[in-house]
Amino acid sequence: MSATSTKMKKMLSTASIACVLGALTSCGPDESATGSSDSTSGGNTGGGTSTNATAPDAPTVTIVTVGDGFLTLAFDPPASNGGAAITSYEATCDNGGSSFVGTAVSSPVNVFNLANGSEYNCTVTASNSAGTSGTSNAGIGTPDPTPSTGLPSEFSQFGNNVTVVYNQAAATVTLEAVGQPDHYSPYWDPDGTSGLYVDAGPETTVAQMSPGFIDQYTNRYFLTVNASPQLASSPTATSLGPIGLAVTGAPIFNGQEGPNINLDTGVISGFDNFGAHTGPQVYHYHLEPTPISNNDSKLIAILADGFFLYGRLEWGTGAPPTNLDAAGGHVGPTQFNSTPHYHYHIVDEIYSTVNGKDDYLLFDGAYQGTPTSITN
Ligand SMILES: [Zn+2]
Ligand SMILES: [Zn+2]
Repeated sequence: MSATSTKMKKMLSTASIACVLGALTSCGPDESATGSSDSTSGGNTGGGTSTNATAPDAPTVTIVTVGDGFLTLAFDPPASNGGAAITSYEATCDNGGSSFVGTAVSSPVNVFNLANGSEYNCTVTASNSAGTSGTSNAGIGTPDPTPSTGLPSEFSQFGNNVTVVYNQAAATVTLEAVGQPDHYSPYWDPDGTSGLYVDAGPETTVAQMSPGFIDQYTNRYFLTVNASPQLASSPTATSLGPIGLAVTGAPIFNGQEGPNINLDTGVISGFDNFGAHTGPQVYHYHLEPTPISNNDSKLIAILADGFFLYGRLEWGTGAPPTNLDAAGGHVGPTQFNSTPHYHYHIVDEIYSTVNGKDDYLLFDGAYQGTPTSITN
């Protein structure tokens, strides 16, 4: 696949998510019906019509949004269009008794005439001149005349390497992360095709870096959290391996580099500018990733208990919060939600200073909510 088609797919994906996350009215049937001609070239590997074109691959449903008597399905176009431009997408929603269809030339697609209060299972297919794809993954939603909850807007911050699926009926959000970052690093293979490799330094040197390139590892991480996570009656210790997913698509780890072995300056000296390195089979963050959040209040990640992790400063005050618990969490407003709610911050406490850079652990406490597994 060419870099151009990859980029177009990513742009489409972002646009469709932003559309659904925004006011529902901006994603009405008119817009989805007219669509953009760009969508037909998303994932185009052949260019134009070919005599031996095949049906496209299936698209991927990313977000289901609930409306009064309808559902809106946002989706990513298929990786391959089969060698001929995709001419239409068709969504089918079925509640076990009846099914309804909606069509569009690009994401999103609306399906109308649904019964409020009834749960529908929806899939999307893509068609070109050669035929129709198989069905996508399922998106589930229950139309509601007065939706009480929407997808929390924090999820709009997750980039192209993370797919967000909102299940309104279950009030859960499932994230699927590619396990690789969407940004530059000396941990990419310098001879690879990522286009994201940069030379090491000044924060590390090739000699200090951990072995392994990002490109060598294929991980897809799945995390399903409650859309409105609650504090647990007692904390749960984190363990080695992924404890959360960053907005960039790579996981975050705690403050240890082995069983009961805290990060030491030798390991930290090999971290890139994002406070990350490759460990067993995956690139991961341990420290404040300064190109993402540097002494500010930006959203960095979601932890396995469903609570979000922010930078060192409190939104609104511009100062480090003074009432953090042992995990670095507290109840307060954020730039995404003015209603006070529980969230974590990077604790504003220098852990080490290595290669001229002050280091702050991303998360070194225990989950204050109930964690679910991050599966690979
Ligand atoms: Zn590590
Ligand atoms: Zn806060």
